[in-house]
Amino acid sequence: MAGIEVTSLHKRYPDGTVAVEHVDLSIGDGELFVMLGPSGCGKTTTLRAMAGLERQTSGDIRIGSTLVNDLPPAERDIAMVFQFYALYPHLKTRDNLAFPLRAEGLPESEVRERVAEASRMMRLDALLDRRPQRLSGGEQQRVALARALVRRPRAFLMDEPLTNLDAELRADMRTEIKHLQAQLGTTMVYVTHDQVEAMSLGHRIAILNKGRVEQVGTPLEVYDRPASLFCAAFIGSPPMNLIEVEVDDGSLRGPGGLRLTPPAGLPRDRTLVAGVRPEALEVTVPGAEGSVPARVISAEVLGDEIIYVLDNGGERDVRVRMPPTVRFAADAPVGLRHAGGTPPVYDVNTEELVA
Ligand code: ATP
Repeated sequence: MAGIEVTSLHKRYPDGTVAVEHVDLSIGDGELFVMLGPSGCGKTTTLRAMAGLERQTSGDIRIGSTLVNDLPPAERDIAMVFQFYALYPHLKTRDNLAFPLRAEGLPESEVRERVAEASRMMRLDALLDRRPQRLSGGEQQRVALARALVRRPRAFLMDEPLTNLDAELRADMRTEIKHLQAQLGTTMVYVTHDQVEAMSLGHRIAILNKGRVEQVGTPLEVYDRPASLFCAAFIGSPPMNLIEVEVDDGSLRGPGGLRLTPPAGLPRDRTLVAGVRPEALEVTVPGAEGSVPARVISAEVLGDEIIYVLDNGGERDVRVRMPPTVRFAADAPVGLRHAGGTPPVYDVNTEELVA
């Protein structure tokens, strides 16, 4: 097993596209590390550079203590799983699993042992004699994972491996991957554009934007204190309300007079925006203590919760997450108040967290 260090990674493709501007990452030994970001932010390029499938323009990659810049993929001792399973269609599951081991020239007894172990871990025993076209999408993906497992690599690199599966299967496979990683303790780097996947899987998450890392943190750190307006808008569904605020008498005042608890150390003379999670606000009856007047624009009734969209005069489209028992009709006059906690505050011009 091994950690992975990426230092000053830069990748410019021959056509001039800069896919990775500058990336530094320090991935711990045994960590499940997620790279998250929108399409085109450079996640795949960074992962492929780690795998040796893409040569970086500059920067260093270390796996364990080995500088791997000049090593071909096969000598990096990592296994990669892609969105497309890339199983050999003419081979049965057992031979798909055995393929990378036979290619390495392992003795047949060792091949059998490793295939049996991976098959047991990924619950493939009943499917060993089937070819890929007779497997469901989820089963094919389990075979692809098992084929990475048999190699007992120092690290797993996963590029959106669940994208092709339906929602329910994705959730199941997510649990399975998380369990597997915990069981093996092998370093795993997992690329996704799906923030729910990132939050539920990662020990830590790196949020990438335009070829740069905007934040690295645990799921709770990135949820509670996004490091930039980009991260604030990217994590959470519905996302944070970004509310323009003024510092007034030591407190924070938003449009319509909404009061928020200010964090310590707020800078003066800057245009500030507070990031307020929908669950940090409350819809109340009109005139309730501490509330400002608002109106319900719409209510999304989701069964376990209701997402209210409010207009409070100054700010339109304020999103508030409420329990399903709190019902207000569309267009109803209501109150809006801060339910507590200290929101992170950003500078509108630099887009960075300031307090
Ligand atoms: P996605 O989730 O859509 O795969 P990504 O974050 O993984 O996105 P990359 O695939 O790393 O992003 O691509 C980053 C940028 O580099 C994009 O603008 C992409 O168009 C560009 N790019 C990727 N591969 C090449 C290539 N072979 N030649 C030129 N440009 C490329």
